[in-house]
Amino acid sequence: MSRRKSSLAIAMAICLGFVLSPAAKTPARTDPEQTGTAVIGIPLRPGLAGSLRSLRLDPLAVWKGALYVRAGEGDRRRLRAAGLASFEPRDIFRAVPRTASEAEGGPNGAYHSYSELETEMTGLQSKYPELAKLTSIGLSLENRRLLALKISDHPGLEEDEAGILLVGGHHAREWISVEVPLQIAASLLEGYDSDPSIRDLVNGSEIWVVPMLNPDGLEYSIWSYRYWRKNRRANADGSFGVDLNRNYDCQWGIDDVGSSPDPESEVFRGPEAFSEPEPKALRDFVLRQGFSAAVFYHSYSQLILYPWSWTSEPAPKRLEFEALAGKLSELIAAVSGRIYAAGQSGEDLYTSNGDAADWVYAGLDVPALTIELPPVDLVNGGFLNAEADIASISGENMPAVQELIRSAIRGYASGSRGHGATVVIRAAGRTPARIR
Ligand SMILES: [Zn+2]
Repeated sequence: MSRRKSSLAIAMAICLGFVLSPAAKTPARTDPEQTGTAVIGIPLRPGLAGSLRSLRLDPLAVWKGALYVRAGEGDRRRLRAAGLASFEPRDIFRAVPRTASEAEGGPNGAYHSYSELETEMTGLQSKYPELAKLTSIGLSLENRRLLALKISDHPGLEEDEAGILLVGGHHAREWISVEVPLQIAASLLEGYDSDPSIRDLVNGSEIWVVPMLNPDGLEYSIWSYRYWRKNRRANADGSFGVDLNRNYDCQWGIDDVGSSPDPESEVFRGPEAFSEPEPKALRDFVLRQGFSAAVFYHSYSQLILYPWSWTSEPAPKRLEFEALAGKLSELIAAVSGRIYAAGQSGEDLYTSNGDAADWVYAGLDVPALTIELPPVDLVNGGFLNAEADIASISGENMPAVQELIRSAIRGYASGSRGHGATVVIRAAGRTPARIR
């Protein structure tokens, strides 16, 4: 067996995850001290990476001879004790609209909090009862509903049609990743009557939009700490949060590159795969529903990524994914001129394991993409998009998602992907014969 084949065999064996994990205990705790946290720069020097690892800091970017991290008072004290100088990088954040999002509608401006999202999605269902059905795929750790909007011409029926899954908000601080799938849902509904191509897509498929998979973390990032990434799990060591996009049972914990066993890490993968209710809810939903294509929205970087994420080895469907991602990238550039570079996650960004897109691909053998929304880098704002960006970023993604839906409908019609795959997985347990 070649190396590639054997690693794929391992992936398929591990990436299904049907065994429910026992719920982790959630002891009552007080929040960690997070006041005074800010982005600081540390001039690059030999051995810096090692020192930072032992200090458990969260690297954000390397830029012009310095590494930028977020650090609290305690972190800065420990940096000084370790003999590492740091500075406040005011100048590089000139482009960041720090106050833009405070202009209207509370501290998150035009971005949606959990309750604002609930209102918005309920409104879409009321306005388009023939086309939209609001439901919940489960509950978050703090018992918020994981809202899902089904868009189809008969949303109350399970039709024999391609299913498309659009998910946002795995990571709390990536607010734009909630807005894009939500705006896509709204645009599909608004365009149904006036745009025949949208009508064909909606009539020919079942589109499921889950804009906020991590509502607890998102609320925390609005009200307590803007750069919060994980969910709000109280970890055994007193720290908080599991990285939800490292918690899927696909090569979970195969190494510590891009995911970490350390609960304090920003990429803590959890004590075991599917330890967290949010990925577990999505897993059960995906296995119940079956999908012909899936997109997971994140920010930032302007990338369209396809599996694998856990290795730089090519996926069996690499060529198909490459063509699809390239096409979507062209469609986005045609709208706004912004380039979303297409490539394999494990090659282009960094390898990471326990990733949602890898898990969906491994389980269903369908295209599962991760779209890293704008901006392209930290200097241009990083996680902090302005309110005015919501419309333009959502708009530039609309033709791409239409193409994805079209391609899913084609794939489903040709019998190569769709609901059938799910049935095979269910029936075959951990070693489905048809999954390649
Ligand atoms: Zn993310």
